[in-house]
Formats: sequence, structure tokens, C-alpha cells
Amino acid sequence: MPDGMVAARASESTNSETQQIDVAVVGAGFAGLYLLHRLRKAGFSAVVLEEADDVGGTWYWNRYPGARCDIQTIDYSYTFDPELESAWKWSEKYATQPEILRYLGFVADRYDLRRDIRFGTKVTAATWDEGAQRWLLTTDNRAKVSCRHYIMATGCLSAPKPPEIEGVKDFKGEVYFTSRWPHAEVKLAGKRVAVIGTGSSGIQAIPLIAEQAAHLTVFQRTPNFALPAHNGPAPADRLALLEGDHAGYREQARWSLGGVPWPQQTVVSWQLSDAERRERFEKAWATGDLIYILTQLWADQAVDADGNALLADLIREKIRSTVHDPETAAALTPHDHPFGAKRPCLDTNYYATYNRPNVTLVNLRQEPIKAITSSGITTDKRGFDVDVIVFATGFDAMTGAIRAVHPIKGRGGKSLSDVWAHGPQTYLGLTVAGFPNLFMITGPGSPSVLSNMAVSIEQHVDWVVDRLTAMREAGFAAIEATDAAQAGWARHMADCSMLTLHRLANTWYTGANVPGKAQGVMPYTGGVGPYRSICNEVVGQGMLGFRLTGPNVPEQCNDGEIVRLQPDVRLVLNMLAEMKLPPLESFGSQGARDFVAQFNAARPAGRPVGEVVDGTLPSTDGPLPYRLYRPATPGPHPIVVYFHGGGWVLGDAQSDDPFCRDMCRRTGMIFVSVGYRHAPEHRFPTAAEDGYAAARWIAEHATELGGKVGPVLVAGWSAGGNIAAVTCQLARDRGGPQIAGQLLVCPVTDCTFDRPSYNDNVTGYFLTRSLMYWFWDLYSSPADRADPRVSPLRGKLAGLPPAYVVTCEFDPLRDEGIAYADALAAAGIAVEQLQARGHFHSSFTMVDVVITGVSGRARMAEAMRRFAGLPQEPRQGHESVRQGLPREVDAAAN
Ligand SMILES: Cc1cc2nc3c(=O)[nH]c(=O)nc-3n(C[C@H](O)[C@H](O)[C@H](O)COP(=O)(O)OP(=O)(O)OC[C@H]3O[C@@H](n4cnc5c(N)ncnc54)[C@H](O)[C@@H]3O)c2cc1C
Repeated sequence: MPDGMVAARASESTNSETQQIDVAVVGAGFAGLYLLHRLRKAGFSAVVLEEADDVGGTWYWNRYPGARCDIQTIDYSYTFDPELESAWKWSEKYATQPEILRYLGFVADRYDLRRDIRFGTKVTAATWDEGAQRWLLTTDNRAKVSCRHYIMATGCLSAPKPPEIEGVKDFKGEVYFTSRWPHAEVKLAGKRVAVIGTGSSGIQAIPLIAEQAAHLTVFQRTPNFALPAHNGPAPADRLALLEGDHAGYREQARWSLGGVPWPQQTVVSWQLSDAERRERFEKAWATGDLIYILTQLWADQAVDADGNALLADLIREKIRSTVHDPETAAALTPHDHPFGAKRPCLDTNYYATYNRPNVTLVNLRQEPIKAITSSGITTDKRGFDVDVIVFATGFDAMTGAIRAVHPIKGRGGKSLSDVWAHGPQTYLGLTVAGFPNLFMITGPGSPSVLSNMAVSIEQHVDWVVDRLTAMREAGFAAIEATDAAQAGWARHMADCSMLTLHRLANTWYTGANVPGKAQGVMPYTGGVGPYRSICNEVVGQGMLGFRLTGPNVPEQCNDGEIVRLQPDVRLVLNMLAEMKLPPLESFGSQGARDFVAQFNAARPAGRPVGEVVDGTLPSTDGPLPYRLYRPATPGPHPIVVYFHGGGWVLGDAQSDDPFCRDMCRRTGMIFVSVGYRHAPEHRFPTAAEDGYAAARWIAEHATELGGKVGPVLVAGWSAGGNIAAVTCQLARDRGGPQIAGQLLVCPVTDCTFDRPSYNDNVTGYFLTRSLMYWFWDLYSSPADRADPRVSPLRGKLAGLPPAYVVTCEFDPLRDEGIAYADALAAAGIAVEQLQARGHFHSSFTMVDVVITGVSGRARMAEAMRRFAGLPQEPRQGHESVRQGLPREVDAAAN
């Protein structure tokens, strides 16, 4: 629509009086347009206030050469109206900015949206009027707006970051910002051009600017990973998927992790040979799809530094093979962050551009910019005379546009800037406690920039408009998040941030690109589908975490925390719940063993260790099997005698194989997993006596096993933790073996079933109370249960080896584990505890499934090394990815 027409329509709402409206929306991008459409359909009076002179948001402002989307356009589109979908055809796999802007204009026309948009109107401040229960918005243009609900659709990437360089005003040439590119053609032909910044915008613009400019000098502070877009028509295979089942394709996107329907990868990097990994990588490189390469190569690429490094190295190889000058190639190669931790870019000829004779790369890490002068840019080594400077320096992301409305005064006159002084605090990324009836679309704390934003925007808009509709029907006038819900969301966000590698990069995701900005991962890293299910759950639980009030209805406040489980534990438990499995005990003992074996076969294979040896060791009634895990490092190593879990009834070396491998790698010790005999065939005290006998034999045969002679250590999980604890008591009382330390993970320690954790976690966390009763009944008769060989809490505790006791919040065995640790401490034993928040009984043994268990296992390994008198090793995996990085915040422990 021509600007003149916009002005004519906008003037209809011009008056000096305050405009009274149900809902005011700020921003007319993807989010604002859909909001207006939905609000109108729901019968709300609404106005959109937009600083720009037309619709489009991001696509209105970012007109620089090469500006395109980097999610395939068939995915980066509205999906709310199938008729709209069939009315518009994209011309390319990745549409250009003009085409996306045309699309948004087409949408605005199709739903006649412009008549309720006040263009050229910037919202400058907002105040909540407690008495009227309304927001008053101040604008830089025409009437104020009084509204019941205030929705900020102001964009995650819409507040440009000001340049941090002295002297911009002195420069006599032309200055452009990619984020505010002029509407008129910018002529660069024959000019000496400087581009400052090599983020997504810079990487898109540089190849096209180089084609026009006499000379292009690129000033790069931080190299980014860029991948070839291989643009062209939309790929036939993706189109066929979409057209084959339109609704199904869209629905899959809504429940996916990134908002694009790719399945979740299950194969982990160490299951693939070098050649297989390379083949997958080359296919991805040729595909030219950001989400594909970010998610489809191997399952550990985004969550584990080692899995990630394999991929990052392959990309680095591509950069070296493309860029002819080795020094330029080295400068362009990122080494300071895991691949994907910072938004990777999609490019067309980016790296090859540096082979052109008219392009120079200046590495600001080696020669920082000193100043911009009247004629160009000087670094601390040289000067560059240029005619044009292009700033591609990015955005004050996620919070910039929200905080630019200043002040936003909530209840009691509290300012949002003050509340967010140490970083954004939100509930669901949608609302802020203390700011009733204020919503943010794709706000900090929601998947937003880590997703296909078209999908995330639709989800937010639908959720908000549905809530407003429900409130109206129930007679509520105000909605506000509670402090408890918001604090819980902050905890959940922190837990989620441990799932991925995003926290390990200095990036605009964390606020690191803006001097003085509070640091922390701002987008929700738990994924689009899980986030959607949480939002739905909030509603399903009676608007959990919200206070709803109205003039003629009683207040409703169902306060609480929506996610108390670790995010990956939640996923595992949801998946189990969906399987609607009968109780394990209903299978009978052999059936339960078969089921568990089948279940375990579906888990990722354990990680490689130096050697795995199966053998047998003697016991009173014949040989017992064992499996030995030897580290890859030169021995001899200390030996850990390990007892698997399974309620004395189930389990074997295979069931705890990933855990033993992981602990072998982390501790640098030999783990010998003992195949003790099971109930009901072998009841109490067989497991305990087998365990003790095995520990004794292993200690006596340390040399033969290739281990270090001297004290052994013991470890066990669940019933195995019970056997480990009992073995320590028997070893003390029966003259050996010497035990240097005990690791008890969620151990059974007592036959009392009335501690709170037995009642708090009756069902829902896989290990149920009735399953525990079943295990106890199969293993021991009530008359035997007070025997310390099955209830070690009832034994003598003095003189035992130092212990590390792990308990999980959502586990019936939690309190008896804590009781054992406390009793050990009271008996003078050196004991450390890890009380793992948000975890369940199997969290630490579901290696590579429950990613948030990593830091807990790292602590366990540190304790074991202390017990064995070994020096501490730097933490493995994603904990040691960045040199100089502070020690991990431990998601697992409070
Ligand atoms: C170059 C570029 C490429 C991108 N490519 C992709 C992609 O491929 N896939 C993807 O998912 N995302 C992409 N994004 C992210 C993109 O921002 C979102 O996809 C989407 O366009 C955001 O829509 P929005 O409506 O939430 O915000 P925006 O499009 O940013 O719109 C916000 C609007 O609010 C207005 N506004 C802000 N503050 C005020 C105020 N105080 N008063 C009045 N008006 C105000 C702004 O003028 C703006 O028009 C890209 C971003 C950029 C910059």
C-alpha cells in the first residue's frame, strides 16, 4: 500500500482525546498482524500502534542487499488459515525481504487490517491505572490510548544496537545500518565500502556489496559459522511432504523442537564411524537447511561438546577449503563457541567472497578499531579510507524494544526497567508479575529466536487471545502472573539452559553483544513443542500461576510452579505416560526383566571406553558374571565394584552399561559391574552376600584385572546402592576388603515406608510405591527386613568409608537416602550429599537421555577421585568446552 493511503486511513483515528479500546497492540510485524486478526474475530476492539509507515516489522526495516529469511519460506509462513496458504505461493526456498514484505502486505489486505493500524506512531510510555484496571499508553504522535490489555508485539530483533565506536558523527561519507536500510536505492558501485559486523545480516549483505563496490573492507570481531543456503525453488521433497498432508505437516511443526517438522535424531555421534559422520555432514552441507544441519546429523550435536566439536571441525574444514588465503581462512574460522550456540548464518558465496581481489578482511581481534574519522576507519595498526560505512552490528535483542518503551509502570508504579535491572523476569515469556494485563509476544523466556518464529508467534497469539476470551466470559477484568510462578519459571529456564550449549557462547541470545546488559540465556531452550505443552498445562491446571480478578466475581488464584521436574525428566515421564504401560509388577518377575531389557535396548548406546571385558568370578554357589570397563588411559587404575539397580529382582550389566561407561570415563577408574543373583529365585541375603563376596574377590584379584592394588571403591544405584552400602558394613566387620569410598545413588537403606517421599511420589515417577513393595516382597520376608544386610540404616555406621550419597526429589527412596547420609554423618563418617532437584529415580543412570544429569555425575566422579586420592580432572563434555568459563551452575543440585 502506498504511504499516502496509509496516512489517509491513519488520520481517521486522529483526535486529541484518549482512544478507548479493549486491546492495544504495539507492532505491526508478523505478530501484530495476526493478533489484530484474531482479536477482531474474538470480538475485541483493538488498535495496532506501529512506528513504521507500513506493516512488515522486521521485513519493513531490514532492506539491505541480500536480506532473506533463513528458515525455508514454506515453513516461515502463517498457518492459521488454509485458504491463505493456498492463496500465496513463494517463489524461492528462502524468500527475499521484498517478497516477505509483499506477503505481509498481502495478509494485511486480505484481512483488511490496515484500518485499525496507526502507522508512524511510536509508543513511548505505558502506565497501569490501578483504579480503572486499564493501561494508558503515551505515543509520540496523536492521541493516547487507554486499553484493558496491552500487548507488546514489538519484536525480538527490532531495536538496533547503537555503534560502540567513537567518531561516527565525524565521518563525512555515507553511513547505513542494515537494520534501518533506506527505502531508496543505495548506490555502492565504484565506492570504497566498509562493513562492520559479520552476524547474519553482514554475512547476507557482504557478497552482494562486494559485487558492486570498488573495494570492500570487512571489519570482523567474532567469526560466525555460515552454511550455504543453496537457494532456489522450494525443495521438491519438502513441498511434497507439505502438500501430501498439509494439516499434519503443520501440526508436526507445532510440536517439534525448533518449529520445523524434522524428526528427532536418535543416533549418537559415537555410534557412527568417521566415514558415516562425513557422509551425513556432506548431505547436510548440500541440503542448505539451517534446521536440518542444526538437528539432524547426530543426537548429541547440540547437547554435548564432544558431539558438537565433531561437526564444528567438519565446517571448519569447509572454510579452509573455500578460502584461498590461509590467514584469512583462519580469521574467518570460529573457535570460541560451539556450533549452534550462537545463531549460525545461511549464506550465498560468503566465504568465497574473500577470494575476490576487491575484498579485505580486518580481524579486530588482532587490530581493534580505534576510531572512525572523517575519511574512514582507523585500527590500532592502520587506516582505511572509505566512502561508505555499513553497520551490520545487530540488535539489542529480546528486551531492547520492550525496554525502549520507558517507563512501563505496573502495579504500585513499579517500572519494568527496574524489575528487569538484572535481566528479564517473566512467566512463560508472556507476562510479568506486577504488570497486570500486559502480554509480550515471543518475549524473553519463550522459544522465540531459537525457533521458527512464525510458529512461535502463532502459538503465543492464540494462547493470549484465547485467554482474553475466556476471561471475558468468566467476568474477569485483570490477569497477573504470581511471584511464585515467575520464580519457578526462572528456575525452569535455568534448568533448560543446561540442556543445550547456548550458555557457552557470548552472543545476543545471552545479552553479551550489548555493553552493560545483564547476562543470561534469554530464549527458552526447552523447545517449541514442550513449551506449547507447558502453556496448555497452565490452562489445564486452572490458569496455574495466575491471579484473575474482576468486579463481580471472586478472585481466582491457583498459585504454583508449572514445571518442577527437570525438562528432560519431564519429557521422559510424559513419553512413558503416553505409552500407558501396565505396572511393571503386573508382568511377573521374568516378564518384568524382559520388559526392562527391551526398554533399555531403545536407549542410546553407552560411550566408548578403553576396553570392556566380560568374565566370571567365584561365589559360594558357583560363578557370577561380571563386566569390566577399563579407561582408555594407561593403568593401573583404581577399581570400583559396581552393583546395578533393579530392586534385587531385575537388571544386569547391560541395564547399567551407559552409567558404568560414563563413570569409567569421568573417574578414570575401572568399573566392575557385578552380576549378583536375583530374587525371587534367590532371596535375602543372597544379593548382599554375593555383593560382598564379589568385592572381596575383586580386591584380591586387582592385579589380574589390570587394576591398582590396594583399597577398592564401591558404588551402586537403587538396590545396587543398597548392596554397596551393605558391602561396606560387611567389609568393616569381616576383615576386609579395604574400601576407600562408597557412592550410593538413590539407595534403598531402610524397610520403613512411611517417610514423606514414599507418599509424595506414590505414582508418576516410574519407580512407584507399589513397585517398591513388590521388590521388597520378592526379596525378603518381613521378619528379615530389619537385618542391616537389607536395611543398612539399622546397622552400626561408625568406621565406614567416606560416602557420597545421591538422592532425587521425585523418588520414593529420597528420604531414606537422606536419612542414611545424615546417620553416617552423625556417626562421624565423612559424607557428602547431592540432593538432586527435579530429578527422578532413574535420572542419573539414563545417560545421554537425561542430559541435566551430567553435572550430577561429574560431581559423583569428583567425589570418587577424592576418595581414591586422585587429582581432579577438568570436567568433561560440555562442561569444559570453553576455556576460562566459570564452573557450571549445577542444575541438579540446590
Ligand atoms: C534480517 C532478519 C532475518 C530474519 N529471518 C528469520 C527467519 O528466517 N526465520 C525466523 O523465524 N525469524 C527470522 N527473523 C526474526 C524475525 O524478527 C521474526 O521472524 C519476525 O519477523 C518477528 O515478527 P514480530 O512481529 O514479532 O516483530 P517485528 O517484525 O520485529 O515487528 C515489531 C514491530 O514493532 C514495532 N515497534 C517496536 N517498538 C515499537 C514502539 N515502541 N512503538 C511502535 N512500534 C514499535 C517495530 O517498528 C516493528 O515494526 C529474522 C530477523 C531479521 C532481522
